[in-house]
Amino acid sequence: MSVIQDVIAMVHEKDAGQPEFHQAVKEVMTTLEPTVDKHPEFVKAKIYERIVIPDRVIMFRVPWVDDDGDIQVNRGFRVQFNSAIGPYKGGLRLHPSVNLGIIKFLGFEQVFKNSLTTLPMGGGKGGSDFDPKGKSDMEVMRFCQSFMQELYRHIGPDTDVPAGDIGVGGREIGYLYGYYKKIVNANHSVLTGKGLEYGGSLIRPEATGYGAVYFAAEMLATRGKEIKGTVSAVSASGNVAQYTVEKLLQLGGKVITLSDSNGTIVDEAGIDSSKLEYVLDLKNYRRGRIREYADKYKVPYYPNKCVWEVIGEQGLKVDLAFPSAHENEIDGNEAQNLVKAGCYCVSEGANMPSTLEAINIYQENNFLYGPAKAANAGGVATSGLEMSQNHMHLSWTREEVDQRLHGIMQSIHRSCLEAAEAYGKKGDYLMGANIAGFIKVANAMLAYGVV
Ligand code: NAP
Repeated sequence: MSVIQDVIAMVHEKDAGQPEFHQAVKEVMTTLEPTVDKHPEFVKAKIYERIVIPDRVIMFRVPWVDDDGDIQVNRGFRVQFNSAIGPYKGGLRLHPSVNLGIIKFLGFEQVFKNSLTTLPMGGGKGGSDFDPKGKSDMEVMRFCQSFMQELYRHIGPDTDVPAGDIGVGGREIGYLYGYYKKIVNANHSVLTGKGLEYGGSLIRPEATGYGAVYFAAEMLATRGKEIKGTVSAVSASGNVAQYTVEKLLQLGGKVITLSDSNGTIVDEAGIDSSKLEYVLDLKNYRRGRIREYADKYKVPYYPNKCVWEVIGEQGLKVDLAFPSAHENEIDGNEAQNLVKAGCYCVSEGANMPSTLEAINIYQENNFLYGPAKAANAGGVATSGLEMSQNHMHLSWTREEVDQRLHGIMQSIHRSCLEAAEAYGKKGDYLMGANIAGFIKVANAMLAYGVV
């Protein structure tokens, strides 16, 4: 049995009850197979075994008081996965589904993603099973303060720099950073996604969505195609989805779907910029449901159905797909729906949104498939740019940050193709992203000796 199969078996045995983590390890490890023969030094140093074990896992209780004066308790997590190439970096997720296995899968993926960005950032991830939906601003604030009361001792500008993820946007980052600053009495670059008034970077809110579209545009160019004139399906209506739609519109594309955890809307006339403005207000300020879009614009709404089911049931035609909600949102059947819809390109804004079966279907049907750790790396890359600006005590213009983001996405695309070709799988972005991200981290781990 190869070292790769041994590592996958070890993770199954030792990290029982963490299916998302198993899935992520299997996806990455199987694509690293071609590196084993080329790098006996990695095998000897047990890099493959070491890279699947986090540097450390921090778990803590988060007690807080709700608006009725009752005490609530949540679980808090920070997984500092690997700091071989820089301080731990990765978001905080607030969602009832959060558990250790989910945070470990996200932290593991983040190690390779951050390496791909070309910036010096290690990988980490954190969060809590707290559900911000339906909570008042004061409840969210009290939760964030209690969370930071423990987290602050584990993070720092050169140690670990968290950011946002599902359920953590500008409001939450403000509360978290405000409390950190109060405890440590310092303006440290210790969180990214900050407001512009207190150290945030222009383009950070837009970066993940914009990046996923830039990556798709690079993939399309390899077949002489462009975004202009295409029809896209986008899932969710959160941060990543909103700015994916914005960039698609700017580049002349049409978007016909959006969703949330309650259902999906289909707008065959296209979600134009004024409708998008409505969605931003609905989701970011009024914190409403996507169903309200259907009421306002008189378009069909499909309750309790995701975008990928609706595409199949309604026989919609789409060229491009941007899954932007959550892990495993597209399974094998839904990937088949995309094939029938005429889709030829998937650029993953969400983390691990496609099951292994769905990925096989994309590959069998010759899709341009941009895996999450490459396609959605624009967010963390721009977080890296926020850290650079903080350390230099200056702010770049919108154009400058966007240009750097675009350049980074082009460079990630190039690295994926180069690594795929060098290791014998030309055009395979999944293998290319995993190998390119891995080699840099593995070489750094090798340089440090046995630590
Ligand atoms: P967000 O602003 O909180 O939005 C999340 C969206 O996904 C919402 O529309 C939410 O609907 C929907 N959603 C979440 N869980 C769902 C479920 N179980 N079923 C159906 N819909 C669900 O989060 P985000 O930052 O856009 O993150 C979306 C994805 O992108 C995540 O996979 C995240 O890890 C990934 N990502 C984000 C960034 C970033 O910079 N933000 C960077 C890289 C990757 P409801 O409102 O109904 O819950």
